[in-house]
Amino acid sequence: TTRVIEALALNHRPRRLPVTLAHASYEVVIGAGLIERAGALLAPVLPQKKAIVISDANVAELYLKPLLDSLGDSGFVTQSLIVPPGEQTKSLDRYRELTDAILEQKVERKTAIIALGGGVVGDLAGFVAATTLRGLPFVQIPTTLLSQVDSSVGGKTGINTPWGKNLLGAFHQPAIVLADISTLATLPPREIKAGYAEIVKSALIGDAGFFAWCENNAPRILGQDPDTLAEAVERACSFKARVVADDEKEKKAEGGRALLNLGHTFGHALEAEMGYDGRLLHGEAVSIGLRLAFMLSVRLGYCPATDLDRVTAHLQANDMPARISDLPQTFSVGTLLNHMTRDKKMEGGKLTFVLVRGIGQAFTCRDVPEEAVKAVLAEDGCVP
Ligand code: NAD
Ligand code: MG
Repeated sequence: TTRVIEALALNHRPRRLPVTLAHASYEVVIGAGLIERAGALLAPVLPQKKAIVISDANVAELYLKPLLDSLGDSGFVTQSLIVPPGEQTKSLDRYRELTDAILEQKVERKTAIIALGGGVVGDLAGFVAATTLRGLPFVQIPTTLLSQVDSSVGGKTGINTPWGKNLLGAFHQPAIVLADISTLATLPPREIKAGYAEIVKSALIGDAGFFAWCENNAPRILGQDPDTLAEAVERACSFKARVVADDEKEKKAEGGRALLNLGHTFGHALEAEMGYDGRLLHGEAVSIGLRLAFMLSVRLGYCPATDLDRVTAHLQANDMPARISDLPQTFSVGTLLNHMTRDKKMEGGKLTFVLVRGIGQAFTCRDVPEEAVKAVLAEDGCVP
């Protein structure tokens, strides 16, 4: 029995993924029950046992107490600041409220900011940490699947302005990321699938073997089997960490971080049209966008149609949105195209897209004819 117990403990030992960058390196710790052990995990990587936890009301209700208890047990002095849930929270107003509250306490350079929540809290708290006293130590405790596999890794922080999303921001790498997969048990299934779309995206960009693994394991990932879920988070984070290490500040003209936008040009256009009111989650837009990127790649002769078929089958088998016509709204080719061309330089009717030569082989293509994009949108159910 001791052997069995040891084997179980080994199985549930957290996975530790190193992220190695030019001027910073840190670990993404992935596992179950990490919040209850946060104090012991954070103590060795923070300069001082003082921390300010920033969370949203939904997440605080569920996970703030166990986090503060664990930090307290390890001798941390803590304070917490709670913001309302939702994308509107990534605003200058909330930023000012948080920094006012923090500066009022005469915060010291070594006090850490801990983000406990999804990507909204991570981006906002990260920007607060990046800018307050020119940079406070920062910890990410992502509690959505999307934030565990995407936003908590890579160091991008920021807020929205009336001019657009994420227009004020900074690169600020965390001292450690704790991806506690137990927190996902309370996340609505729609949010789980939206996060899963970003996992599928990473496989489709650069790891065909990972996509095949997803095809075999999606029901266990979405059903939150702990080991399968932890492996999916680890593989997606490790993929993102590799891309980020290769192009930390998104400076590369070819490949690099820009590839992480596979499916996003289409996705952002759908989001912009449906508004950010929760009817269409980012990951749902990405799910449809990924398939559109494959359709466009097939149409332009870069990608075999059988790969598009696999992507379509995978999304549909897992009850994820696959086609524009799956959405409860009609879109016109012209309006979507307008969103896509708004902030892009167009040269002779040519657009830049992340396309694929097949599953796991994304590349930046600078001469996509506008006509091909229109044809793909029409084929997927847009009205002229
Ligand atoms: P979110 O932070 O809004 O969380 C979604 C909802 O789930 C919220 O209502 C939240 O309160 C709730 N929630 C969070 N964790 C929960 C849990 N464990 N149980 C129950 N409810 C929970 O959304 P998100 O999808 O995590 O993040 C989206 C944001 O991430 C966007 O603002 C996007 O711009 C940003 N983002 C940033 C990066 C980056 O690199 N920095 C990358 C991708 C996305
Ligand atoms: Mg995304």
